[in-house]
Amino acid sequence: MLKALLIDPSRFQRSVIASVFVRRNVEVAMADSAAAGLKALAEGRYDILCFSLELGDMRGTDFYREALKRKLAGSIPALMLAATPDKKVFDDAIAAGVTDCFPKADLEDLEQYVEQWERRANRRMSGHVLLVEDSDTAANFCIEVMEGLGLQVSRFRTAEEAIASLAHGDYKIVVTDFVLEGLQTGLSVIRAVRAQPGRKGELPILALSSIDSVARRVDILRAGANDFVTKPVLAEELAARLGNLLMLRELFDRLAAQHELVKEMALRDGLTSLHNRYHLMAEMPRLIDEAHAKAMPLTLLVVDIDHFKKINDQHGHSRGDAVLVAVAEILRGIVRGQQVLVRYGGEEFVLALPGTTTLQAGLGAERLREKIAAANPDGIPVTASFGIATLKPGESFDQLFSRADAALYEAKRGGRNQVVSG
Ligand code: GH3
Ligand code: MG
Ligand code: MG
Ligand code: MG
Repeated sequence: MLKALLIDPSRFQRSVIASVFVRRNVEVAMADSAAAGLKALAEGRYDILCFSLELGDMRGTDFYREALKRKLAGSIPALMLAATPDKKVFDDAIAAGVTDCFPKADLEDLEQYVEQWERRANRRMSGHVLLVEDSDTAANFCIEVMEGLGLQVSRFRTAEEAIASLAHGDYKIVVTDFVLEGLQTGLSVIRAVRAQPGRKGELPILALSSIDSVARRVDILRAGANDFVTKPVLAEELAARLGNLLMLRELFDRLAAQHELVKEMALRDGLTSLHNRYHLMAEMPRLIDEAHAKAMPLTLLVVDIDHFKKINDQHGHSRGDAVLVAVAEILRGIVRGQQVLVRYGGEEFVLALPGTTTLQAGLGAERLREKIAAANPDGIPVTASFGIATLKPGESFDQLFSRADAALYEAKRGGRNQVVSG
């Protein structure tokens, strides 16, 4: 449970301010003066410090300076409240290192701060950390912090070992020291992570370094680290930076998943849930290149429902839709492996059949024609016409498609409910 230290001389004020923390399930210890506050800080461990500007024996800002001087504060948030908010006083407090200042009269801002802080502080993290650190003391400290946050840690002493583990480890974040045992530094780890294929190459990387020079920081960031922490590492800082990197990563993952979904939806037809013509356009170049390269047949089959306008006119648009869905199902039922089936437009479907000759496609189309004619979906008699064309050497998709379309036109002209090969 999180614990706050609250310092204010007035018992009434203390209870009002304490309620803000208690509401967020934060335990509150109280002190009624700066001296009592300093004593409490020296003796206990707190996760947040909240004090008033008006402390009686000292001004809040001076109290905080004193706490810092005695190394009793600095690693946890310090919030100051003032009865009469004054910009100069607040600026002075922030300059002294206070995290934020709030007016006592209206505790809404304090409430918001505490709410967000509590949510962040209590957030459990999950996943596997790759920790590359040669110093046992530093590594053990990091492992304790990380495991305390809910993370699993795999630790290596050298860049070489860590890099070797990248291939099979399912890591969520990489934390690497700069100077390591062995020949390579943390920069090699960073570069090796970034050289991984796909999403693995985008793993968040937090670098640790005890040499805090601008040049070193720039080197680390340029190599591809997302953030770094200066050693000796502070638990709060490590937790905050890990939390930020993991949260960003989660957001990116969610965005990528949404992008995939949108892409998938853009390539699908809502009525029949078949792919649409854009999917065909995306797939054809590959199929055509492959057919040309391997001198394998590639056959295009264009299917168009006969007199569909009449079906709509006689039975209504929604029963027309049901016919479309039924025909789509029949077509879907015969699609295998590499074959591509799309709803190309209104009542027109296209099948791309790699490795299939004109003759084989003709036999398949004939069976489809019979199936559709026998289906009677929703009690409505329906037939379809078929046009077939097989890719010629050097031919483009447009040329292939217009030959299949011309064959379909012949099938329509010949009386419909038939298959014509171009
Ligand atoms: P043909 O035998 O020559 O192909 O005649 P047809 O009536 O089937 O062809 P035409 O292209 O004249 O008409 C196609 C009709 O398909 C017109 C259009 O309203 C209808 N249509 C297109 N999309 C949909 C749809 O999603 N649902 C329904 N119910 N009808 C659609
Ligand atoms: Mg080291
Ligand atoms: Mg039609
Ligand atoms: Mg049509």
